[in-house]
Amino acid sequence: MTSKTEELSELLKKCVQCGSCLVICPIYRATENEVFSPRGKLYYLKLKEAFPDKFDEELAKEYAKTIFTCVVCGRCVESCTSEVKLTDIFREERLASVDQFPKLVQIGENITDEMNVYGLDNEMRAETWTMELYDDFPDIDDRVYSEGMTADTILFVGCLMSFRSRHTNVLKSILKVMEHIDENFLILGGEEYCCGHPLDLLGKIEQADKMREHNTEVIHKVGAKTVVTDCPGCLEALIDHHKLDPSVKVLHMTEYFDEKIESVPNKLDITLKYHDPCELFRNNEVTQAPRSLMKKMGIEVIEMEPSCCGGGGMLRVTDDAIAQDIMKQRIEKEELNEEGTCVVTCCPSCLEQFEQNGVTTGDIAEYLVKALNLEETK
Ligand code: SF4
Ligand code: SF4
Repeated sequence: MTSKTEELSELLKKCVQCGSCLVICPIYRATENEVFSPRGKLYYLKLKEAFPDKFDEELAKEYAKTIFTCVVCGRCVESCTSEVKLTDIFREERLASVDQFPKLVQIGENITDEMNVYGLDNEMRAETWTMELYDDFPDIDDRVYSEGMTADTILFVGCLMSFRSRHTNVLKSILKVMEHIDENFLILGGEEYCCGHPLDLLGKIEQADKMREHNTEVIHKVGAKTVVTDCPGCLEALIDHHKLDPSVKVLHMTEYFDEKIESVPNKLDITLKYHDPCELFRNNEVTQAPRSLMKKMGIEVIEMEPSCCGGGGMLRVTDDAIAQDIMKQRIEKEELNEEGTCVVTCCPSCLEQFEQNGVTTGDIAEYLVKALNLEETK
């Protein structure tokens, strides 16, 4: 046995099939199919390890479906009393199964060929949204990095926010606040490559690392002491997988603004339901900063069960129907369709998932500009 197989077999032995991970798994809740539950996935993997010869094409396909029917929210890890690191196992197993999904293969190629998930010209990474903001920021082109420029802080935008128009308003809000606090910052434009997080979800760690090497080099060239991002997936990749100099601080947008802003002139005096993005809450343990910032802004937070919106783990690509079922259950449980209900979050992927299901949703930054009276400023 190779040491990797031994390690896996030790991990699998730890699972006592108690079932504590079942009821909290959003996939199991939505499908009521034990095969897709955390315990079911491990059981399937045990069979694969025990009887590799019996694993024909058909079973390999079924197994791939099981492994990729997961939002990688990490709730199973949190609930497992045997401390089985399920998501680590699932991430590793994804590489062996990814070829069963042509759309995922395409996404992987988009990133390795064009450095972004959409396979678009990466030189358009900044232009796509900055061209919408010339009225508000006439000098915005001066904020886009080119060789030789330096800054204290980098706003790492991420693929989703760079190329999808819903997020332009969030970026406009973030920029307004950064200018308001007089931050010396740059965005990286075409020199920002995908953070590699989507490649991690496909198990393609080597390709992800190539993206990270480039980003790391550019961040060091800029001489930035702080990197800020609104995307929890980028945050995780920047903290855990970019080999940045330890003096470089990586912060989520909410942590950064919570550090910088003590009070606001315009308390909003509103009540919103806050959705904790899984990657921010479980993987990066950022829970206090968003709440602290919202408190300063005069937002009363209604807590919800910390559960996935259905948009994680590439599930919308592999099985969109289940992703939407997860959201529908959440809407029903948390009564998000009630008139006047509004969800606030701080993740572009979660934001889209809520809005596409008809829930009124905003990013914390969009409220922060209001609280700072910056909405109409030029
Ligand atoms: S909670 Fe842990 S030990 Fe129990 S079934 Fe799930 S993975 Fe296995
Ligand atoms: S990571 Fe989340 S979706 Fe995946 S098996 Fe665990 S609880 Fe279920």
